[in-house]
Amino acid sequence: MAQPPTIWFDNEGYCSVCQGRTTFVAEGEWLRDQYICSRCRSIPRQRALIEVLDQLVPRWPELRIHESSPTMKFFANQCRGYSYSFFFEDIGPGEYKNGLPCENLEQLTFADRSFDIFITQDVMEHVFDPQRALMEIMRVLDHGGLHIFTTPKHKHLTKSYARARLSGTAVEHLFEPQYHGSPIGDGRALVTWDYGTDFEDLMRDWTGYLTSTFVIRDRERGIDGEHLEVFVMRKSKVNHVRGEAGGES
Ligand SMILES: [Zn+2]
Repeated sequence: MAQPPTIWFDNEGYCSVCQGRTTFVAEGEWLRDQYICSRCRSIPRQRALIEVLDQLVPRWPELRIHESSPTMKFFANQCRGYSYSFFFEDIGPGEYKNGLPCENLEQLTFADRSFDIFITQDVMEHVFDPQRALMEIMRVLDHGGLHIFTTPKHKHLTKSYARARLSGTAVEHLFEPQYHGSPIGDGRALVTWDYGTDFEDLMRDWTGYLTSTFVIRDRERGIDGEHLEVFVMRKSKVNHVRGEAGGES
């Protein structure tokens, strides 16, 4: 018989995902994945992203939102203008697999300026060409639109680097392969990039746009743990500060 999880600690608080009072339970010491809302099973980065979105764009439920690789129904339930997609290697962008729409972030099928908000949670560390993906996301955002995203930023790493790259259609591993859990496929996703403390500069160099970094650490809101940064890139002329790439379209 399965043993009940050992409880590291628990506390009462407010959950932004199920939108009510709850008990947050730390089922292990890796709070990022193990500090769970007992009502909706959400994890800290999901709650943090919603809190940041609520602060920046309170009227987001009325806007056009696209999310890549969603792991919760929250936005689908809250926002009429919501759409989502997953990346499947074996079908083309714009096609469907088991009813799920496929998009490749590196070559989105959407027209320019299709969305007001683009959400990626823990996706950018699994993309082979994150620069191209970020540029594509900025292309499909409307003026003033936001890319709001999470991805692990390692505080002891000063320079970001690729762990794996594509050479033709073959994956070339530059370091020992690492995998994270994935909502689709065989349940695991190859880590292609390790990001470090140069992350925001790298984002600017890659896209030309400034990136804001929000960090909430508040157990009252069920938010604590590692890599809880929520990054925001706003598509506006004044935020495009560098390079020819990524100009306003
Ligand atoms: Zn909850």
